[in-house]
Amino acid sequence: MSDEKRDAGALARLPQVGALMDGVAAAELVARHPRALVKEAARRAIDEARKTLLGGEMAAAPSAEVLVARMKEMLEGELAPKLRAVINATGVIVHTGLGRAPLAGEAMEAVARTASGYCNLEIELAEGRRGHRYEIVEDLIRMLTGAEAAEVVNNNAAAVMLALRALTAGRKVLVSRGQLIEIGGAFRLPDIMAESGCKLVEVGTTNRTRLEDYERAMDEETAAVLVAHPSNYKIVGFHEEPGIAELAELTNRAHVLLIHDLGSGALVDLAKYGVAHEPTVQESLADGADAVCFSGDKLLGGPQAGIIAGRREPVQIARRHPMARAMRVDKMCLAALEATLRLYLDEESVAERVPVLRAISAPLPEIRERAGRAYEAIMSVAPAGAMIKIDDETARVGGGAMPEYDLPSVVVKIWPPEGLGAEEVARRLRTGRTSVYPRVAEGAVVLDMRTVGEGEIGALVEAVAAALHG
Ligand SMILES: *Cc1c(COP(=O)(O)O)cnc(C)c1O
Repeated sequence: MSDEKRDAGALARLPQVGALMDGVAAAELVARHPRALVKEAARRAIDEARKTLLGGEMAAAPSAEVLVARMKEMLEGELAPKLRAVINATGVIVHTGLGRAPLAGEAMEAVARTASGYCNLEIELAEGRRGHRYEIVEDLIRMLTGAEAAEVVNNNAAAVMLALRALTAGRKVLVSRGQLIEIGGAFRLPDIMAESGCKLVEVGTTNRTRLEDYERAMDEETAAVLVAHPSNYKIVGFHEEPGIAELAELTNRAHVLLIHDLGSGALVDLAKYGVAHEPTVQESLADGADAVCFSGDKLLGGPQAGIIAGRREPVQIARRHPMARAMRVDKMCLAALEATLRLYLDEESVAERVPVLRAISAPLPEIRERAGRAYEAIMSVAPAGAMIKIDDETARVGGGAMPEYDLPSVVVKIWPPEGLGAEEVARRLRTGRTSVYPRVAEGAVVLDMRTVGEGEIGALVEAVAAALHG
């Protein structure tokens, strides 16, 4: 028999999509999944088989059972949840790609308690009247920061956009040239300002801006001075910027607003935990900022949100702007934010209960001990030829807080056995049953134990074993 004839015979024995769908083999899939999806999988499985037959990689047409098994594999892959839990072994605590702040247990409970049924999102229960959703967190934010009022929107980009739009549109806003930042994820301050409709006036130079530079640029058209936290970069060396207090003295005198894009939104002084000082919301307000914008899911450690906290008048103007409606947060966000903020009422325990603060404040000996346990367990499951080492490293806060500031940390480094690359092990770790996100450096898979939680070590070790053994 010629090859051509054999191919034609095998191809002819491939079932039609309809026949495969109606056969016994596919009955269970058809019963379990939407018909259109199963049909699409059948079409692709048959196509795939045709290509392998034509390519000569297979001599006989696969049975219906084999085709259905392939369809099942395809459907399971496609129908599996796309958003998965990941163990963060990168050492970057506020990692935007990995969803920023892990939520406190209290925040998760609040979401579960209120979001699965109805809740009083916009109802004042005592009087049974319609209220405002911001009232849920406004008192807490006032107590914690000293602000007179606060508005919550979807994220800090929205908070900055709303503040500028509502308070400065059509007028000038002065910004130091050293603060015209790009945060990543397309947050470029000049673009946000252009979209908000205000006129950006650059003052000073990249590395030095003085109070007089602001003063000189100010005229009747000026609505505000905007100060942006440089977040993800740092000027070292010859550098000067006036502080919020100095600027507030000037803006008050000139009757213009001082808007502070603080970014991270620290509510506690991290210096308390032996970490560098990061400006807090309350400091900015005490120094005289009229409106401070910050994220809910960076150092604050809550859900994605943007908060404008400040004097009553500017906050109310922002709140009443039509754009605020397009940026409003939902009940799940407010439930998590309220519960997270509540944890800050107890200054003693907050660092234990908010996961971001816990990761930042964890003392090195504790991380070393955790790394030691992971190391021992990985040693006992690693295949011959793998090399495992424990090493001192530095972790990062991330999320635009404290750029260039190194948190001491301890890592477990794994050099896979000959023939298995670190990149391949990392890929397996990311896509395995438990997803782990490591770093790769110098041919090794690096697991930073500052961001791996106490309760995650068992799953981490299992995932590493699976990845190393294939
Ligand atoms: C992170 C950051 C933003 C953007 O905040 P999102 O919550 O990501 O929208 C804006 N400004 C500064 C200074 C930041 O650090």
